[in-house]
Amino acid sequence: MALVNLLDFDLDGLAAHCEGLGEKRFRATQLFRWIHQKGAGDFGAMTDLAKSLRDKLAGTAEIRPLSVITEQASVDGTVKWLFDVGNGDAVEAVFIPEDDRGTLCVSSQAGCAVGCRFCSTGHQGFSRNLSTGEILAQLWHAEHHLRQRLGLAPGGRAITNVVMMGMGEPLQNYGALVPALRVMLDDHGYGLSRRRVTVSTSGVVPMMDRLREDCPVALAVSLHAPTDCLRDELVPLNRKYPLAELMAACQRYLDRAPRDFITFEYCMLDGVNDSPAQARELLDLVQGRVPGIPRVPCKLNLIPFNPFPASGLLRSPRERVLAFAKVLQDGGVVTTVRKTRGDDIDAACGQLAGEVQDRTRVNERLKRLPVRVVPATPVPPGPRSR
Ligand code: SAH
Ligand code: SF4
Repeated sequence: MALVNLLDFDLDGLAAHCEGLGEKRFRATQLFRWIHQKGAGDFGAMTDLAKSLRDKLAGTAEIRPLSVITEQASVDGTVKWLFDVGNGDAVEAVFIPEDDRGTLCVSSQAGCAVGCRFCSTGHQGFSRNLSTGEILAQLWHAEHHLRQRLGLAPGGRAITNVVMMGMGEPLQNYGALVPALRVMLDDHGYGLSRRRVTVSTSGVVPMMDRLREDCPVALAVSLHAPTDCLRDELVPLNRKYPLAELMAACQRYLDRAPRDFITFEYCMLDGVNDSPAQARELLDLVQGRVPGIPRVPCKLNLIPFNPFPASGLLRSPRERVLAFAKVLQDGGVVTTVRKTRGDDIDAACGQLAGEVQDRTRVNERLKRLPVRVVPATPVPPGPRSR
């Protein structure tokens, strides 16, 4: 009989499971704390649980870790793990320490079906969704491993923030994502506040509305283009959920969001989306000057593109990124340029390329598309361009 993976449960799920074993809810809470707060990997260590419960669990359940293929530490303190998720698939998680926080970037899928032009995960294609247990095993491993590595005092936390910005589109794995988020937020779990957990999405509009109802954590939206015409090319999901729908969903999300702004991510691609004219178009978009599209209070995060050969794209020169940022800042939008971290270990955005089997042949479809580098100005006309 297959053992039940206790990392698959949020606290309510674990309580229901324990009830099935004839145990009261407070026992589930104790068990949950052992797993997530203390990092216990086996039941023998859980000394304040009745021996009878430990015996019952030992025969039916496990705390299933992911096996680590490699762990790489950068000179800047960034740590990247490559985890084996079976059947030839691997996913990555990255820890990024800063003065006042420690952020873990977590994967939600093996590969990704969205197929963005500039993303190496997208180029690999899609293999499968991760389970809740596999999403949480990345955090569980990283937190408890880092506590030891950094020599933290008991009760000390290594990870203060989680961003769902690793491999995959989290809102295309909604059913597994939400219980994992609940464990991150639970005071008996990782105890992170909603503003310290960020879901990053390429814009799966219906699931943004569901997340707003079910678990409204901080939201980052990967925009990358100021017009539908260009965004259709870069983020193919835009053809399904164009900017008017995406921006309206962002505005709705803000009523429940833990912060009063959405973070827009914008990957700077040389000669594609980085001209001053496009910066002005982006300003018009977010400030509600495009007919039919609502204003969305936001912060803008410009990401220097991390090139990989198959993309056929190049990183925008630094002066162009700064000029782009200045247009936005002068127009009143708080704009930051993301520092690239872990460059020496390929841990930066879009370089997360744990091998996956492309089971839906996304990669082949992508290869059949001509690699088009769209000229910066003028933005090519299209059915939905302004
Ligand atoms: N699928 C989600 C989350 C994972 S991607 C999303 O698209 O939002 C996390 C971030 O990395 C996104 O903003 C994405 O656009 C960015 N990214 C992807 N490939 C990149 C690359 N090659 N260089 C820089 N950023 C990249
Ligand atoms: Fe998927 Fe995000 Fe990469 Fe696009 S950028 S292919 S949505 S992981």
